[in-house]
Amino acid sequence: MEKIAVKIDDLTVAYNYKPVLWDIDLQIPEGVLMAIVGPNGAGKSTLIKSILGILKPIAGSVSIFGKPYKKQRKHVAYVPQKGSVDWDFPTTALDVVMMGTYGKLGWIKRPGVKQKKKALEALEKVGMLSFKGRQISQLSGGQQQRVFLARALVQDASIYFMDEPFQGVDATTEVAIINILKELRKAGKTVVVVHHDLQTVPEYFDWVTFLNVKKIATGPVKVIYHDDNLTKTYGINYKVSIQK
Ligand code: ADP
Repeated sequence: MEKIAVKIDDLTVAYNYKPVLWDIDLQIPEGVLMAIVGPNGAGKSTLIKSILGILKPIAGSVSIFGKPYKKQRKHVAYVPQKGSVDWDFPTTALDVVMMGTYGKLGWIKRPGVKQKKKALEALEKVGMLSFKGRQISQLSGGQQQRVFLARALVQDASIYFMDEPFQGVDATTEVAIINILKELRKAGKTVVVVHHDLQTVPEYFDWVTFLNVKKIATGPVKVIYHDDNLTKTYGINYKVSIQK
């Protein structure tokens, strides 16, 4: 039987008593590359933040490989939405990526030559090696996003959550990112991505969850990615020409 990476039961989350996620039941199988799609304000970011324990639900529960997030922290990597992190302290791109290795080292030990090599390799992978000494605050949003991706890579997690990694990046970067995501899946990792471009879903992902406050549908792209579910989710008559 396939292993479940994330199991969400009866999850309801509210801001100021207004529910933005309603009674969500969702299981994400291990090893999928999954898109979460839905209109603005559907609760996509909220769902990821709830899985990661950043937001406290008013009802329901989440487990990651059978345990609460608190116990699985070191197996989980998170790339937040572009521009959502405020860098008011001086730190270089390399420092940020090195931070990703701390989880493995514990608090006392300092990162050494091996960690630095790994961080530099990750920066190269995302095409940011030449910016390694640059202050993170002096990078564009898209460049910061790539540095975060590099940090997630050195974390060597089992499951990756990414909130709109393609937002505002150029075509070359988009290809670089999707290649990395596909590599992660090939290595058996589970990758969960908030995604906006409905046209690229069939090309990039093998699993999809439709969300609009409630869970509309979840499953293999080949089976459930069709106009009906898109219309249910976006509320208007959706027609995407999907190549299968
Ligand atoms: P999505 O990622 O799908 O665009 P979000 O999860 O960011 O949606 O937001 C879901 C809803 O919750 C929206 O209506 C948004 O306005 C609201 N919301 C998000 N963050 C907050 C917050 N910190 N305080 C109050 N309301 C919020």
